[in-house]
Amino acid sequence: MDIAVIGSNMVDLISYVDRMPEQGETLAAPDFQMGCGGKGANQAVAASRLGSDVLMVTRVGNDIFAKNTIDNFAKNGIDTRFVLETESTSGVAPIFVDKDSNNSIIIVLGANEKLSPADIDAAADEIAACKLIVLQLEVPLETVYAAIEFGNAHDIPVLLNPAPAHPDLDIERVKSCTYFMPNETELALLTSKPVDTIEQIREAAQGLVDQGVKDVIVTMGSRGALWVNSTFTKEIPAVRVEAKDTTGAGDAFIGCFSHYLVKSGDVEKAMAMASKYAADSVTKLGTQSSYATAAEFVGAR
Ligand code: ADP
Repeated sequence: MDIAVIGSNMVDLISYVDRMPEQGETLAAPDFQMGCGGKGANQAVAASRLGSDVLMVTRVGNDIFAKNTIDNFAKNGIDTRFVLETESTSGVAPIFVDKDSNNSIIIVLGANEKLSPADIDAAADEIAACKLIVLQLEVPLETVYAAIEFGNAHDIPVLLNPAPAHPDLDIERVKSCTYFMPNETELALLTSKPVDTIEQIREAAQGLVDQGVKDVIVTMGSRGALWVNSTFTKEIPAVRVEAKDTTGAGDAFIGCFSHYLVKSGDVEKAMAMASKYAADSVTKLGTQSSYATAAEFVGAR
């Protein structure tokens, strides 16, 4: 295996409405779509579509959504042996999108809240055979901490995407990850520092490095990405495109970065490829539906 994603999956339930409903109002939506999402699942799908062998360690509920999620992983070539069923609902995200593309999102973590350190133990042999562990924060923090400890103990690099921002994240317990990859909003919330300019972003990231985090890579939307560590700063500009839908851009970036990092061991190259891949994804609608396969990824050539 190449990559173990230990993280979340969600089913997006998207109602396209003319306007947001008022409190107590019943509103008809002209259109509806169900899609597979969740940060862990998105990152796994992007990496797998590019050709990595991906092991997904996650929990689904015992409801009608579970099969849909497992089928989607399988369809994308992801190893589903540790997509574990739970006595609970699946993670779901009811989403309203209005005519102006404003959205309101409710996240029901459901089974994702049950992913435990014991699940990492259960998949230990398979995770230990991977070259990179990828984590986000839509599962319990104890599980994230345990996964980092597992990676450290087995000498496997660990990429932590601290998303969504979690007020209780203990930097001391995650600083031994190899790559710490927030977006600018998460960086601001984590450090309580301004992130308006690239220099401010660099300073905030430097603050994390000063606390012992090795390599901080900040994604900055249309401004690109910034890599900061104790010896240098490297900026990778975004690829200029006409953005149609930026949802899931961060997950596209991380999935692609993981793929090329494992393939080449070259962080700068992985960032450059991720920048092209994420830019390509924002020119298309949807989240996973906007992630190219290796054959479709023109930036790869
Ligand atoms: P998130 O989805 O977590 O908010 P970002 O908005 O930082 O993540 O986007 C992740 C990456 O996607 C960026 O670093 C950049 O490479 C790419 N990206 C995002 N928005 C655009 C855009 N409008 N044009 C080009 N690239 C983009």
